[in-house]
Amino acid sequence: SGQKQTHGFQAEVKQLLQLMIHSLYSNKEIFLRELVSNASDAADKLRFLALSDSSLYENDGELRVRISFDEKARTLTISDNGIGMDEAEVISHLGTIAKSGTKEFFSKLSGDQSKDSKLIGQFGVGFYSAFIVADKVTVRTRKAGLAADSAVEWESSGEGDYSLAPIVKNERGTEITLHLREGEDEFLSRWKIESTVTKYSDHISIPVEMWEEGTEAREEDGETIAATPGHWKAVNKATALWTRDKSDISDEEYQEFYKHISHDWSEPLSWSHNKVEGNSNYTSLLYVPKKAPFDMWNREAKHGLKLYVQRVFIMDDAEQFMPSYLRFIKGVLDSSDLPLNVSREILQDNKVSQSLRKGCSSRALKMLEKLAKDPEQYQSFWNEFGQVLKEGPAEDHNNKEQIAALLRFASTQNEGSEQNVALADYVARMKEGQDDIYFLVADSFEAAKHSPHLEVFRKKGIEVLLLSDRIDEWLVQHLPEFDGKKLRSVAKGGLDLSKLDDEETKQAQQKTEEAFATVAERFKAALGDQVKDVKVSHRLTDSPACVVTDEYDMSTQMIKLMESAGQ
Ligand code: ADP
Ligand code: MG
Repeated sequence: SGQKQTHGFQAEVKQLLQLMIHSLYSNKEIFLRELVSNASDAADKLRFLALSDSSLYENDGELRVRISFDEKARTLTISDNGIGMDEAEVISHLGTIAKSGTKEFFSKLSGDQSKDSKLIGQFGVGFYSAFIVADKVTVRTRKAGLAADSAVEWESSGEGDYSLAPIVKNERGTEITLHLREGEDEFLSRWKIESTVTKYSDHISIPVEMWEEGTEAREEDGETIAATPGHWKAVNKATALWTRDKSDISDEEYQEFYKHISHDWSEPLSWSHNKVEGNSNYTSLLYVPKKAPFDMWNREAKHGLKLYVQRVFIMDDAEQFMPSYLRFIKGVLDSSDLPLNVSREILQDNKVSQSLRKGCSSRALKMLEKLAKDPEQYQSFWNEFGQVLKEGPAEDHNNKEQIAALLRFASTQNEGSEQNVALADYVARMKEGQDDIYFLVADSFEAAKHSPHLEVFRKKGIEVLLLSDRIDEWLVQHLPEFDGKKLRSVAKGGLDLSKLDDEETKQAQQKTEEAFATVAERFKAALGDQVKDVKVSHRLTDSPACVVTDEYDMSTQMIKLMESAGQ
Protein backbone atom coordinates (compact mmCIF):
# COMPACT_ATOMS: atom_id res chain seq x y z
CA SER A 1 0.00 0.00 0.00
CA GLY A 2 1.09 3.60 0.49
CA GLN A 3 -0.59 4.60 -2.72
CA LYS A 4 -3.98 5.42 -4.05
CA GLN A 5 -5.73 2.38 -5.51
CA THR A 6 -8.92 1.96 -7.50
CA HIS A 7 -11.44 -0.77 -6.70
CA GLY A 8 -14.64 -1.78 -8.50
CA PHE A 9 -17.96 -1.93 -6.69
CA GLN A 10 -19.67 -5.29 -6.36
CA ALA A 11 -22.24 -5.57 -9.19
CA GLU A 12 -25.15 -5.44 -6.75
CA VAL A 13 -23.89 -2.15 -5.29
CA LYS A 14 -23.96 -0.57 -8.73
CA GLN A 15 -27.53 -1.75 -9.22
CA LEU A 16 -28.56 -0.52 -5.78
CA LEU A 17 -27.03 2.90 -6.39
CA GLN A 18 -28.86 3.29 -9.70
CA LEU A 19 -32.23 2.33 -8.29
CA MET A 20 -31.83 4.32 -5.13
CA ILE A 21 -30.86 7.58 -6.75
CA HIS A 22 -33.92 7.41 -8.98
CA SER A 23 -36.51 6.14 -6.57
CA LEU A 24 -35.59 8.21 -3.55
CA TYR A 25 -35.08 11.52 -5.20
CA SER A 26 -38.39 12.89 -3.90
CA ASN A 27 -37.37 12.00 -0.36
CA LYS A 28 -33.73 12.85 -0.63
CA GLU A 29 -33.10 14.31 2.82
CA ILE A 30 -33.18 10.82 4.32
CA PHE A 31 -29.48 10.51 3.45
CA LEU A 32 -28.82 12.57 6.57
CA ARG A 33 -30.84 10.20 8.72
CA GLU A 34 -28.81 7.28 7.35
CA LEU A 35 -25.42 8.87 7.96
CA VAL A 36 -26.39 9.98 11.48
CA SER A 37 -27.77 6.50 12.15
CA ASN A 38 -24.43 4.97 11.14
CA ALA A 39 -22.54 7.40 13.37
CA SER A 40 -24.74 6.42 16.28
CA ASP A 41 -24.14 2.70 15.59
CA ALA A 42 -20.40 3.44 15.48
CA ALA A 43 -20.62 5.12 18.91
CA ASP A 44 -22.52 2.12 20.28
CA LYS A 45 -19.88 -0.27 18.99
CA LEU A 46 -17.02 1.75 20.47
CA ARG A 47 -18.72 2.01 23.85
CA PHE A 48 -19.17 -1.73 23.87
CA LEU A 49 -15.52 -2.50 23.07
CA ALA A 50 -14.35 0.11 25.57
CA LEU A 51 -16.11 -1.84 28.34
CA SER A 52 -13.16 -4.21 28.26
CA ASP A 53 -10.52 -1.78 26.94
CA SER A 54 -11.04 1.82 27.97
CA SER A 55 -7.85 2.93 26.21
CA LEU A 56 -9.90 2.84 23.00
CA TYR A 57 -11.40 6.15 24.09
CA GLU A 58 -7.99 7.82 23.63
CA ASN A 59 -9.04 10.32 26.34
CA ASP A 60 -12.07 11.31 24.32
CA GLY A 61 -15.07 9.51 25.80
CA GLU A 62 -17.75 12.07 24.90
CA LEU A 63 -19.24 10.37 21.88
CA ARG A 64 -21.07 12.60 19.45
CA VAL A 65 -21.64 13.33 15.79
CA ARG A 66 -21.01 16.75 14.23
CA ILE A 67 -22.47 18.24 11.09
CA SER A 68 -20.92 21.18 9.31
CA PHE A 69 -21.06 22.73 5.85
CA ASP A 70 -18.96 24.90 3.59
CA GLU A 71 -20.96 27.12 1.28
CA LYS A 72 -18.04 28.01 -0.93
CA ALA A 73 -16.82 24.46 -1.46
CA ARG A 74 -20.47 23.25 -1.53
CA THR A 75 -19.73 20.42 0.86
CA LEU A 76 -21.54 18.94 3.82
CA THR A 77 -19.53 17.00 6.42
CA ILE A 78 -20.75 14.51 9.00
CA SER A 79 -18.08 13.41 11.44
CA ASP A 80 -18.17 11.08 14.41
CA ASN A 81 -15.74 9.86 17.06
CA GLY A 82 -17.11 6.32 17.08
CA ILE A 83 -15.40 3.04 16.30
CA GLY A 84 -14.14 3.96 12.80
CA MET A 85 -13.09 1.41 10.18
CA ASP A 86 -9.81 -0.16 9.14
CA GLU A 87 -8.97 -0.71 5.47
CA ALA A 88 -10.50 -4.19 5.21
CA GLU A 89 -13.72 -2.94 6.80
CA VAL A 90 -13.91 0.00 4.43
CA ILE A 91 -13.60 -2.37 1.48
CA SER A 92 -16.25 -4.76 2.72
CA HIS A 93 -18.70 -2.20 4.15
CA LEU A 94 -18.44 0.52 1.52
CA GLY A 95 -17.91 -1.62 -1.56
CA THR A 96 -20.21 -4.59 -1.17
CA ILE A 97 -23.55 -5.53 0.33
CA ALA A 98 -22.81 -8.04 3.03
CA LYS A 99 -26.16 -9.80 3.36
CA SER A 100 -26.71 -13.46 2.70
CA GLY A 101 -28.87 -14.09 -0.34
CA THR A 102 -28.12 -10.70 -1.92
CA LYS A 103 -27.06 -12.11 -5.27
CA GLU A 104 -30.16 -14.25 -5.65
CA PHE A 105 -32.32 -11.32 -4.68
CA PHE A 106 -30.79 -8.98 -7.23
CA SER A 107 -30.99 -11.58 -9.97
CA LYS A 108 -34.78 -11.60 -9.47
CA LEU A 109 -35.28 -7.89 -10.07
CA SER A 110 -37.45 -7.28 -13.10
CA GLY A 111 -35.75 -4.26 -14.66
CA ASP A 112 -38.94 -2.23 -14.17
CA GLN A 113 -37.58 0.62 -12.11
CA SER A 114 -40.72 1.48 -10.19
CA LYS A 115 -41.37 -2.14 -9.19
CA ASP A 116 -37.75 -2.83 -8.36
CA SER A 117 -37.32 0.26 -6.25
CA LYS A 118 -40.10 -0.95 -3.96
CA LEU A 119 -38.37 -4.28 -3.49
CA ILE A 120 -35.03 -2.71 -2.91
CA GLY A 121 -36.40 -0.94 0.14
CA GLN A 122 -35.93 -4.21 1.97
CA PHE A 123 -32.21 -3.59 1.89
CA GLY A 124 -32.48 -0.43 3.85
CA VAL A 125 -31.02 2.67 2.36
CA GLY A 126 -27.77 3.01 4.23
CA PHE A 127 -24.53 4.71 3.44
CA TYR A 128 -25.03 4.67 -0.34
CA SER A 129 -27.93 7.11 0.02
CA ALA A 130 -25.29 9.86 0.21
CA PHE A 131 -25.17 9.66 -3.59
CA ILE A 132 -28.74 10.88 -3.88
CA VAL A 133 -27.49 14.41 -3.23
CA ALA A 134 -23.73 14.08 -3.80
CA ASP A 135 -21.77 13.46 -6.99
CA LYS A 136 -18.67 12.73 -4.97
CA VAL A 137 -18.34 11.33 -1.45
CA THR A 138 -15.12 11.31 0.57
CA VAL A 139 -14.83 9.13 3.66
CA ARG A 140 -11.88 9.57 5.98
CA THR A 141 -11.77 7.07 8.79
CA ARG A 142 -9.52 5.69 11.50
CA LYS A 143 -10.37 2.73 13.63
CA ALA A 144 -10.16 3.19 17.40
CA GLY A 145 -6.88 1.83 18.72
CA LEU A 146 -4.96 2.15 15.43
CA ALA A 147 -2.15 4.68 14.89
CA ALA A 148 -2.90 8.05 13.29
CA ASP A 149 -1.09 7.01 10.10
CA SER A 150 -3.20 3.87 9.72
CA ALA A 151 -6.23 5.81 8.56
CA VAL A 152 -7.91 5.38 5.18
CA GLU A 153 -9.49 7.70 2.64
CA TRP A 154 -12.26 6.30 0.45
CA GLU A 155 -13.61 8.35 -2.42
CA SER A 156 -16.19 7.69 -5.12
CA SER A 157 -18.55 9.37 -7.52
CA GLY A 158 -21.02 6.51 -7.08
CA GLU A 159 -20.63 5.01 -10.52
CA GLY A 160 -18.47 1.98 -11.16
CA ASP A 161 -15.64 2.30 -8.68
CA TYR A 162 -14.01 3.95 -5.68
CA SER A 163 -10.48 4.83 -4.67
CA LEU A 164 -8.65 4.02 -1.46
CA ALA A 165 -5.59 5.78 -0.08
CA PRO A 166 -3.72 5.68 3.22
CA ILE A 167 -3.88 8.96 5.17
CA VAL A 168 -2.96 10.38 8.54
CA LYS A 169 -5.96 11.15 10.76
CA ASN A 170 -5.41 12.28 14.31
CA GLU A 171 -8.96 11.99 15.58
CA ARG A 172 -10.47 8.55 15.83
CA GLY A 173 -13.71 7.88 13.94
CA THR A 174 -15.27 8.60 10.59
CA GLU A 175 -15.69 11.82 8.64
CA ILE A 176 -17.91 11.79 5.57
CA THR A 177 -17.85 14.71 3.14
CA LEU A 178 -20.55 15.07 0.52
CA HIS A 179 -19.72 17.14 -2.54
CA LEU A 180 -23.24 18.24 -3.38
CA ARG A 181 -24.71 17.84 -6.84
CA GLU A 182 -25.70 20.87 -8.82
CA GLY A 183 -28.99 22.19 -7.39
CA GLU A 184 -28.71 20.59 -3.96
CA ASP A 185 -27.66 23.79 -2.21
CA GLU A 186 -30.59 23.66 0.18
CA PHE A 187 -28.46 21.43 2.42
CA LEU A 188 -25.95 24.27 2.82
CA SER A 189 -28.25 25.83 5.37
CA ARG A 190 -28.24 25.52 9.12
CA TRP A 191 -32.01 25.67 9.22
CA LYS A 192 -32.44 22.85 6.70
CA ILE A 193 -29.95 20.59 8.47
CA GLU A 194 -31.37 21.30 11.88
CA SER A 195 -34.94 20.66 10.82
CA THR A 196 -33.95 17.45 9.05
CA VAL A 197 -32.13 16.19 12.13
CA THR A 198 -35.11 17.04 14.34
CA LYS A 199 -37.46 15.29 11.96
CA TYR A 200 -35.53 12.05 11.51
CA SER A 201 -32.87 11.76 14.17
CA ASP A 202 -34.23 13.29 17.35
CA HIS A 203 -34.22 9.84 19.00
CA ILE A 204 -30.51 9.23 18.40
CA SER A 205 -28.96 8.73 21.82
CA ILE A 206 -25.69 10.62 21.22
CA PRO A 207 -25.68 14.39 20.62
CA VAL A 208 -25.91 15.52 17.01
CA GLU A 209 -24.04 18.84 17.13
CA MET A 210 -23.74 21.91 14.94
CA TRP A 211 -21.38 24.82 15.39
CA GLU A 212 -22.85 27.88 17.03
CA GLU A 213 -20.98 31.13 16.36
CA GLY A 214 -19.84 33.12 19.37
CA THR A 215 -20.96 36.66 20.05
CA GLU A 216 -18.82 39.67 20.90
CA ALA A 217 -19.25 41.56 24.15
CA ARG A 218 -21.68 44.43 23.67
CA GLU A 219 -23.41 47.26 25.48
CA GLU A 220 -27.17 47.07 25.77
CA ASP A 221 -29.26 49.62 27.75
CA GLY A 222 -26.15 50.69 29.59
CA GLU A 223 -25.24 47.14 30.60
CA THR A 224 -22.38 45.05 29.32
CA ILE A 225 -23.31 41.67 27.92
CA ALA A 226 -20.35 39.29 28.03
CA ALA A 227 -18.94 37.65 24.91
CA THR A 228 -19.83 34.01 24.34
CA PRO A 229 -17.32 31.77 22.62
CA GLY A 230 -18.33 29.71 19.63
CA HIS A 231 -19.27 26.15 20.59
CA TRP A 232 -20.77 22.86 19.37
CA LYS A 233 -24.39 22.57 20.34
CA ALA A 234 -26.68 19.54 20.25
CA VAL A 235 -29.69 19.93 17.96
CA ASN A 236 -31.41 16.67 18.98
CA LYS A 237 -32.80 15.38 22.28
CA ALA A 238 -29.89 12.95 22.66
CA THR A 239 -31.61 10.49 25.01
CA ALA A 240 -32.22 6.86 24.13
CA LEU A 241 -35.83 6.77 22.97
CA TRP A 242 -36.86 3.65 24.88
CA THR A 243 -35.80 5.21 28.19
CA ARG A 244 -38.26 8.05 27.75
CA ASP A 245 -41.86 8.07 28.94
CA LYS A 246 -44.34 6.59 26.50
CA SER A 247 -46.56 9.62 26.82
CA ASP A 248 -43.71 11.89 25.66
CA ILE A 249 -42.96 9.97 22.49
CA SER A 250 -44.80 10.77 19.28
CA ASP A 251 -45.77 8.18 16.65
CA GLU A 252 -43.29 9.79 14.26
CA GLU A 253 -40.48 9.31 16.78
CA TYR A 254 -41.39 5.66 17.24
CA GLN A 255 -41.46 5.24 13.45
CA GLU A 256 -38.09 6.91 12.88
CA PHE A 257 -36.54 4.87 15.66
CA TYR A 258 -37.81 1.73 13.94
CA LYS A 259 -36.10 2.73 10.71
CA HIS A 260 -32.87 3.33 12.62
CA ILE A 261 -32.75 -0.08 14.29
CA SER A 262 -34.27 -2.18 11.50
CA HIS A 263 -32.57 -0.58 8.48
CA ASP A 264 -35.99 -0.86 6.86
CA TRP A 265 -37.21 2.13 4.89
CA SER A 266 -40.93 1.76 5.43
CA GLU A 267 -42.93 2.49 8.55
CA PRO A 268 -43.68 -0.35 10.99
CA LEU A 269 -47.17 -1.83 11.20
CA SER A 270 -47.30 -1.54 14.99
CA TRP A 271 -45.18 -1.39 18.12
CA SER A 272 -45.26 -2.10 21.83
CA HIS A 273 -43.14 -0.30 24.41
CA ASN A 274 -42.93 -1.75 27.92
CA LYS A 275 -41.01 -1.13 31.12
CA VAL A 276 -40.91 -4.07 33.50
CA GLU A 277 -39.85 -3.62 37.12
CA GLY A 278 -39.78 -6.11 39.97
CA ASN A 279 -38.32 -9.60 39.78
CA SER A 280 -37.09 -8.74 36.31
CA ASN A 281 -35.99 -5.30 35.26
CA TYR A 282 -36.00 -4.45 31.60
CA THR A 283 -37.46 -2.31 28.90
CA SER A 284 -38.54 -3.70 25.56
CA LEU A 285 -39.63 -1.86 22.45
CA LEU A 286 -40.89 -4.31 19.84
CA TYR A 287 -42.07 -3.68 16.29
CA VAL A 288 -44.01 -5.59 13.64
CA PRO A 289 -42.68 -4.62 10.19
CA LYS A 290 -45.00 -3.98 7.27
CA LYS A 291 -43.20 -6.20 4.80
CA ALA A 292 -41.38 -9.48 5.10
CA PRO A 293 -37.65 -9.17 4.42
CA PHE A 294 -36.42 -10.92 1.28
CA ASP A 295 -34.34 -13.31 3.39
CA MET A 296 -37.05 -14.43 5.82
CA TRP A 297 -36.68 -18.02 4.64
CA ASN A 298 -32.90 -17.96 4.55
CA ARG A 299 -31.51 -20.01 7.41
CA GLU A 300 -28.42 -17.83 7.75
CA ALA A 301 -30.37 -14.57 7.79
CA LYS A 302 -29.88 -12.53 10.92
CA HIS A 303 -32.78 -11.74 13.18
CA GLY A 304 -33.41 -10.95 16.80
CA LEU A 305 -33.43 -7.91 19.04
CA LYS A 306 -30.85 -5.22 19.60
CA LEU A 307 -29.57 -5.87 23.11
CA TYR A 308 -28.57 -3.16 25.58
CA VAL A 309 -27.54 -3.66 29.19
CA GLN A 310 -28.19 -0.60 31.32
CA ARG A 311 -28.34 1.53 28.17
CA VAL A 312 -25.00 0.29 26.86
CA PHE A 313 -25.26 -1.36 23.47
CA ILE A 314 -24.15 -5.00 23.65
CA MET A 315 -25.10 -6.67 20.37
CA ASP A 316 -27.29 -6.69 17.30
CA ASP A 317 -29.47 -9.64 16.32
CA ALA A 318 -29.65 -11.25 19.75
CA GLU A 319 -31.88 -14.13 18.72
CA GLN A 320 -32.13 -15.68 22.20
CA PHE A 321 -35.00 -13.38 23.13
CA MET A 322 -37.40 -14.28 20.35
CA PRO A 323 -38.42 -17.77 19.28
CA SER A 324 -37.93 -18.57 15.64
CA TYR A 325 -41.64 -18.32 14.77
CA LEU A 326 -41.48 -14.65 15.84
CA ARG A 327 -38.27 -13.95 13.93
CA PHE A 328 -39.91 -11.11 11.99
CA ILE A 329 -40.23 -9.00 15.16
CA LYS A 330 -37.68 -6.18 15.41
CA GLY A 331 -36.81 -4.15 18.42
CA VAL A 332 -34.69 -3.23 21.38
CA LEU A 333 -34.28 -4.94 24.70
CA ASP A 334 -32.53 -3.11 27.54
CA SER A 335 -31.91 -5.30 30.58
CA SER A 336 -30.66 -4.28 34.01
CA ASP A 337 -30.23 -7.89 35.14
CA LEU A 338 -27.65 -9.12 32.64
CA PRO A 339 -23.94 -8.44 33.22
CA LEU A 340 -22.23 -5.90 30.96
CA ASN A 341 -19.78 -8.54 29.81
CA VAL A 342 -22.54 -10.84 28.59
CA SER A 343 -21.73 -12.81 25.43
CA ARG A 344 -23.78 -14.86 23.00
CA GLU A 345 -22.50 -18.00 24.71
CA ILE A 346 -23.59 -16.81 28.15
CA LEU A 347 -27.01 -15.85 26.78
CA GLN A 348 -27.54 -19.36 25.42
CA ASP A 349 -27.81 -20.96 28.80
CA ASN A 350 -28.87 -18.36 31.27
CA LYS A 351 -31.85 -18.03 33.60
CA VAL A 352 -32.18 -14.30 33.01
CA SER A 353 -32.24 -14.68 29.25
CA GLN A 354 -34.81 -17.46 29.50
CA SER A 355 -37.12 -15.26 31.49
CA LEU A 356 -36.52 -12.36 29.09
CA ARG A 357 -37.40 -14.65 26.20
CA LYS A 358 -40.62 -15.59 27.89
CA GLY A 359 -41.48 -11.97 28.58
CA CYS A 360 -40.63 -10.79 25.07
CA SER A 361 -42.54 -13.62 23.34
CA SER A 362 -45.57 -12.87 25.41
CA ARG A 363 -45.32 -9.14 24.63
CA ALA A 364 -45.02 -9.90 20.95
CA LEU A 365 -48.07 -12.18 21.01
CA LYS A 366 -50.06 -9.56 22.89
CA MET A 367 -49.06 -6.99 20.31
CA LEU A 368 -50.38 -9.30 17.56
CA GLU A 369 -53.60 -9.86 19.50
CA LYS A 370 -54.09 -6.15 19.63
CA LEU A 371 -53.32 -5.84 15.94
CA ALA A 372 -55.91 -8.55 15.21
CA LYS A 373 -58.64 -6.25 16.51
CA ASP A 374 -58.22 -4.35 13.26
CA PRO A 375 -59.04 -7.04 10.66
CA GLU A 376 -57.70 -5.08 7.71
CA GLN A 377 -54.33 -4.38 9.33
CA TYR A 378 -54.14 -7.90 10.65
CA GLN A 379 -54.81 -9.32 7.21
CA SER A 380 -51.90 -7.40 5.78
CA PHE A 381 -49.74 -8.74 8.62
CA TRP A 382 -51.02 -12.28 8.05
CA ASN A 383 -50.35 -12.21 4.33
CA GLU A 384 -46.70 -11.29 5.01
CA PHE A 385 -45.90 -13.34 8.10
CA GLY A 386 -48.68 -15.91 8.60
CA GLN A 387 -46.59 -18.80 7.32
CA VAL A 388 -43.91 -18.05 9.89
CA LEU A 389 -46.42 -17.78 12.72
CA LYS A 390 -47.73 -21.22 11.73
CA GLU A 391 -44.45 -22.66 13.03
CA GLY A 392 -45.53 -21.49 16.48
CA PRO A 393 -47.64 -24.35 17.86
CA ALA A 394 -44.80 -26.81 17.20
CA GLU A 395 -42.16 -24.55 18.71
CA ASP A 396 -43.85 -22.92 21.69
CA HIS A 397 -46.07 -25.31 23.62
CA ASN A 398 -46.71 -22.89 26.46
CA ASN A 399 -48.33 -20.36 24.19
CA LYS A 400 -50.08 -22.81 21.88
CA GLU A 401 -53.62 -21.65 22.58
CA GLN A 402 -52.66 -17.99 22.19
CA ILE A 403 -50.89 -18.66 18.90
CA ALA A 404 -53.80 -20.79 17.66
CA ALA A 405 -56.11 -17.83 18.21
CA LEU A 406 -53.88 -15.74 15.92
CA LEU A 407 -53.96 -18.20 13.00
CA ARG A 408 -56.03 -17.52 9.90
CA PHE A 409 -57.20 -20.00 7.26
CA ALA A 410 -58.93 -20.21 3.94
CA SER A 411 -62.27 -21.94 4.30
CA THR A 412 -65.27 -23.27 2.40
CA GLN A 413 -67.12 -20.38 3.99
CA ASN A 414 -65.41 -18.01 1.55
CA GLU A 415 -65.23 -17.81 -2.21
CA GLY A 416 -61.57 -16.93 -2.51
CA SER A 417 -58.25 -18.26 -1.27
CA GLU A 418 -57.61 -15.50 1.26
CA GLN A 419 -56.62 -16.85 4.66
CA ASN A 420 -58.91 -14.84 6.89
CA VAL A 421 -60.91 -17.26 9.03
CA ALA A 422 -59.91 -17.47 12.69
CA LEU A 423 -60.52 -20.70 14.59
CA ALA A 424 -62.80 -18.75 16.91
CA ASP A 425 -64.91 -17.65 13.91
CA TYR A 426 -65.14 -21.25 12.83
CA VAL A 427 -66.20 -22.44 16.28
CA ALA A 428 -68.84 -19.74 16.51
CA ARG A 429 -70.34 -21.02 13.23
CA MET A 430 -70.30 -24.74 14.14
CA LYS A 431 -73.51 -26.63 13.48
CA GLU A 432 -75.71 -28.06 16.21
CA GLY A 433 -74.27 -31.46 17.10
CA GLN A 434 -70.86 -30.71 15.49
CA ASP A 435 -68.03 -31.43 17.94
CA ASP A 436 -64.94 -31.10 15.78
CA ILE A 437 -63.17 -28.58 13.61
CA TYR A 438 -62.74 -29.99 10.10
CA PHE A 439 -59.86 -29.25 7.77
CA LEU A 440 -58.49 -30.48 4.50
CA VAL A 441 -54.83 -30.34 3.49
CA ALA A 442 -53.94 -30.27 -0.21
CA ASP A 443 -51.13 -29.15 -2.51
CA SER A 444 -52.90 -26.02 -3.60
CA PHE A 445 -55.97 -24.03 -2.73
CA GLU A 446 -57.60 -25.12 -6.00
CA ALA A 447 -56.96 -28.78 -5.25
CA ALA A 448 -58.40 -28.33 -1.77
CA LYS A 449 -61.45 -26.50 -3.00
CA HIS A 450 -62.31 -29.17 -5.54
CA SER A 451 -61.58 -32.16 -3.37
CA PRO A 452 -64.31 -34.83 -3.40
CA HIS A 453 -63.84 -35.10 0.36
CA LEU A 454 -65.78 -31.88 0.69
CA GLU A 455 -68.97 -33.12 -0.91
CA VAL A 456 -70.65 -34.47 2.17
CA PHE A 457 -69.67 -31.38 4.15
CA ARG A 458 -71.16 -29.13 1.52
CA LYS A 459 -74.30 -31.18 1.59
CA LYS A 460 -74.61 -30.88 5.34
CA GLY A 461 -73.55 -27.24 5.30
CA ILE A 462 -70.49 -27.83 7.50
CA GLU A 463 -67.54 -25.49 7.12
CA VAL A 464 -64.11 -26.98 6.30
CA LEU A 465 -60.80 -25.13 6.61
CA LEU A 466 -58.77 -25.40 3.41
CA LEU A 467 -55.04 -25.73 4.08
CA SER A 468 -52.49 -25.61 1.28
CA ASP A 469 -49.27 -24.03 2.60
CA ARG A 470 -46.22 -26.28 2.88
CA ILE A 471 -46.16 -25.81 6.63
CA ASP A 472 -49.81 -26.79 7.16
CA GLU A 473 -49.33 -30.52 7.59
CA TRP A 474 -46.74 -29.79 10.26
CA LEU A 475 -49.02 -27.26 11.88
CA VAL A 476 -52.04 -29.54 12.26
CA GLN A 477 -49.87 -32.30 13.69
CA HIS A 478 -48.98 -29.96 16.51
CA LEU A 479 -52.41 -28.48 16.93
CA PRO A 480 -54.67 -31.36 17.95
CA GLU A 481 -57.34 -29.07 19.32
CA PHE A 482 -58.59 -25.55 19.82
CA ASP A 483 -61.00 -24.35 22.47
CA GLY A 484 -61.61 -27.97 23.52
CA LYS A 485 -62.56 -29.03 19.98
CA LYS A 486 -60.52 -31.55 18.02
CA LEU A 487 -59.09 -30.61 14.67
CA ARG A 488 -59.91 -33.42 12.24
CA SER A 489 -58.85 -34.07 8.72
CA VAL A 490 -61.76 -34.76 6.39
CA ALA A 491 -59.47 -37.05 4.38
CA LYS A 492 -59.00 -39.53 7.19
CA GLY A 493 -61.15 -42.57 7.96
CA GLY A 494 -63.43 -42.88 10.94
CA LEU A 495 -65.31 -39.71 10.12
CA ASP A 496 -68.64 -39.99 11.84
CA LEU A 497 -71.01 -37.29 10.83
CA SER A 498 -74.05 -39.33 11.78
CA LYS A 499 -74.78 -37.18 14.82
CA LEU A 500 -75.64 -34.45 12.37
CA ASP A 501 -78.14 -36.64 10.51
CA ASP A 502 -81.76 -37.25 11.28
CA GLU A 503 -83.25 -40.75 11.81
CA GLU A 504 -84.62 -40.98 8.28
CA THR A 505 -81.22 -40.35 6.68
CA LYS A 506 -79.59 -42.88 8.94
CA GLN A 507 -82.02 -45.58 7.90
CA ALA A 508 -81.58 -44.75 4.24
CA GLN A 509 -77.81 -44.97 4.65
CA GLN A 510 -78.08 -48.34 6.30
CA LYS A 511 -80.08 -49.62 3.37
CA THR A 512 -77.52 -48.32 0.89
CA GLU A 513 -74.72 -50.03 2.80
CA GLU A 514 -76.53 -53.36 2.69
CA ALA A 515 -77.37 -53.02 -0.98
CA PHE A 516 -73.76 -52.23 -1.96
CA ALA A 517 -71.99 -54.68 0.34
CA THR A 518 -71.30 -57.17 -2.44
CA VAL A 519 -70.13 -54.44 -4.82
CA ALA A 520 -67.57 -53.33 -2.23
CA GLU A 521 -66.40 -56.92 -1.81
CA ARG A 522 -65.83 -57.22 -5.56
CA PHE A 523 -63.84 -53.96 -5.65
CA LYS A 524 -61.70 -55.17 -2.79
CA ALA A 525 -60.99 -58.46 -4.52
CA ALA A 526 -60.09 -56.67 -7.76
CA LEU A 527 -57.76 -54.10 -6.10
CA GLY A 528 -56.06 -56.70 -3.90
CA ASP A 529 -52.98 -55.40 -2.06
CA GLN A 530 -53.31 -51.89 -3.36
CA VAL A 531 -55.87 -50.98 -0.72
CA LYS A 532 -56.43 -51.76 2.93
CA ASP A 533 -60.19 -51.83 2.64
CA VAL A 534 -63.12 -50.77 0.47
CA LYS A 535 -66.11 -49.31 2.26
CA VAL A 536 -69.48 -47.96 1.30
CA SER A 537 -69.34 -44.31 2.26
CA HIS A 538 -71.77 -41.47 2.67
CA ARG A 539 -69.10 -38.87 2.24
CA LEU A 540 -69.62 -38.35 -1.46
CA THR A 541 -72.50 -36.78 -3.28
CA ASP A 542 -71.25 -36.38 -6.86
CA SER A 543 -68.05 -38.44 -7.19
CA PRO A 544 -68.39 -42.22 -7.34
CA ALA A 545 -65.32 -43.00 -5.17
CA CYS A 546 -62.41 -41.44 -3.30
CA VAL A 547 -59.21 -42.51 -1.56
CA VAL A 548 -58.92 -41.99 2.21
CA THR A 549 -56.24 -42.84 4.75
CA ASP A 550 -56.84 -44.55 8.06
CA GLU A 551 -57.33 -42.26 11.01
CA TYR A 552 -53.89 -43.00 12.44
CA ASP A 553 -52.01 -43.44 9.16
CA MET A 554 -49.92 -40.78 7.49
CA SER A 555 -51.97 -38.51 5.27
CA THR A 556 -51.38 -38.64 1.51
CA GLN A 557 -49.96 -35.12 1.87
CA MET A 558 -47.42 -36.23 4.46
CA ILE A 559 -46.47 -39.24 2.33
CA LYS A 560 -45.74 -36.89 -0.59
CA LEU A 561 -43.70 -34.63 1.67
CA MET A 562 -41.62 -37.55 2.93
CA GLU A 563 -41.11 -38.81 -0.61
CA SER A 564 -39.91 -35.44 -1.81
CA ALA A 565 -37.51 -35.30 1.16
CA GLY A 566 -36.06 -38.62 -0.08
CA GLN A 567 -37.45 -40.84 2.69
P1 ADP B 1 -26.13 -0.73 7.75
O1 ADP B 1 -26.10 0.47 8.62
O2 ADP B 1 -27.51 -1.22 7.50
O3 ADP B 1 -25.19 -1.81 8.17
P2 ADP B 1 -24.96 1.05 5.86
O4 ADP B 1 -24.91 1.05 4.37
O5 ADP B 1 -25.62 2.22 6.48
O6 ADP B 1 -25.67 -0.29 6.28
O7 ADP B 1 -23.51 0.92 6.44
C1 ADP B 1 -22.71 -0.17 6.05
C2 ADP B 1 -21.65 -0.45 7.07
O8 ADP B 1 -20.59 0.50 6.97
C3 ADP B 1 -22.08 -0.38 8.51
O9 ADP B 1 -22.67 -1.60 8.93
C4 ADP B 1 -20.77 -0.10 9.23
O10 ADP B 1 -20.07 -1.30 9.45
C5 ADP B 1 -20.01 0.72 8.23
N1 ADP B 1 -20.14 2.16 8.54
C6 ADP B 1 -20.91 3.06 7.91
N2 ADP B 1 -20.78 4.27 8.46
C7 ADP B 1 -19.92 4.15 9.49
C8 ADP B 1 -19.37 5.05 10.48
N3 ADP B 1 -19.74 6.33 10.53
N4 ADP B 1 -18.48 4.53 11.36
C9 ADP B 1 -18.11 3.24 11.33
N5 ADP B 1 -18.60 2.35 10.44
C10 ADP B 1 -19.48 2.79 9.53
MG1 MG C 1 -26.86 2.29 8.27
